[in-house]
Amino acid sequence: MALNQSIYHSPVFQQACNQFDAAADILGMDAGLRERTKRPRRCVVVSMPVRMDDGRIEIFEGYRVQHNLSTGPAKGGIRFHHEVTLGEVAALAMWMSWKCSLAGLPYGGGKGGVIVDPRKLSKTELERLSRRYMQEILPFIGPNVDIPAPDVGTDAQVMAWMMDTYSNHKGFYDPGVITGKPISLGGSLGRKEATGEGVAWFVKAYLQDFGIKPEQTKVVIQGFGNVGSEAALALYDWGAEVIGISDYTGGIHNPKGIDLKAALDYVQKNKNLQGFPGGDALTNEQLMELPCTVLIPAALERVITEKNAAKLQCRILAEGANGPTTYEADQIIRQRGDIHIIPDVLCNSGGVIVSYFEWLQNLQNYYWTKGEVFDKLYRMLAKAKASVDETAKKYKCSHRTAALVLGIARVSEAKAQRGLFP
Ligand code: GLU
Repeated sequence: MALNQSIYHSPVFQQACNQFDAAADILGMDAGLRERTKRPRRCVVVSMPVRMDDGRIEIFEGYRVQHNLSTGPAKGGIRFHHEVTLGEVAALAMWMSWKCSLAGLPYGGGKGGVIVDPRKLSKTELERLSRRYMQEILPFIGPNVDIPAPDVGTDAQVMAWMMDTYSNHKGFYDPGVITGKPISLGGSLGRKEATGEGVAWFVKAYLQDFGIKPEQTKVVIQGFGNVGSEAALALYDWGAEVIGISDYTGGIHNPKGIDLKAALDYVQKNKNLQGFPGGDALTNEQLMELPCTVLIPAALERVITEKNAAKLQCRILAEGANGPTTYEADQIIRQRGDIHIIPDVLCNSGGVIVSYFEWLQNLQNYYWTKGEVFDKLYRMLAKAKASVDETAKKYKCSHRTAALVLGIARVSEAKAQRGLFP
């Protein structure tokens, strides 16, 4: 039976399904197992009444999708964004399944989302909404069931409120229910930097494969949030030049290199990059077409489309965001043959890998140094890179399809071997 598209209907979900099918074709997966592996397992829709500061009650809508529970508890972030849809969350949950599987983590995949622009809430409203969301999904989560984490629009403070809500309900401190927490509440050293550090690690590894040196590397980053800014700093420290950055207000271009510390200070003070004096202003669309060595989309899905794929001028496209390249754009880039894509499920997996380390530390009540965290992280990234490179060669397919073949195969094998219950 075909998937009921009316539930998850969205271009992002379709994109994830198209990518899945390309990998399932290579695996020769039969129709039954294919549908069983593709379909989200469980989806919770909640409405949350929240008292606003002016006394009004506003109702927010939220989701938690558990795509795969066959290889461990669901794992994946919670997104607060005004354009969140169920289909988008389902696609993101599916990508978490493949990401965790590819990295060899003992998890399934999940994702949460709330339709809200968190920038428009006061801190107290944000706290009430975060607690209420956790309260509503509480029967479906837990350290062995589903472990949320930060995503676009949420941070360590939001995770702290959610962990506190969960722990109060249980009656004891239970930090393993959520990752990306503040260090004082069982967060892991290195988790904040992990996604961006991981993106930079892959960029450096592929540049080395292509014989490109740090001083020859010009980087453009779309999205200067947690992932984009940490990747920028790591590549700058390595010796690359960051010539373009952007956020939802627009971009900044400086061919001589952007002063990242000044940009970060500016964002801290002004909340966004608008008016930053360290370069020329341009739109996000213009920014992505700048000539550069490495382009890192590090914000939302579907920013590289059939409209701009032919105009990109980078050697490496490193997907810090989830799903930034549409299925159609993927085909165009593959035909061009001059751009290497480091696919999202590989490129940004450093975040969930260190989330796994955080969860392990919580369960063992034994905490690691930052050196131990990064040493273990880099070893896991290197292993994943080697297996994706090898699989792409073996099947003569794109690195995206290779990464998905590896991620999907482990999940579908587990499902086939567990059998059907009852
Ligand atoms: N939201 C992040 C991602 O998309 C991190 C998920 C996690 O740490 O569980 O990979």
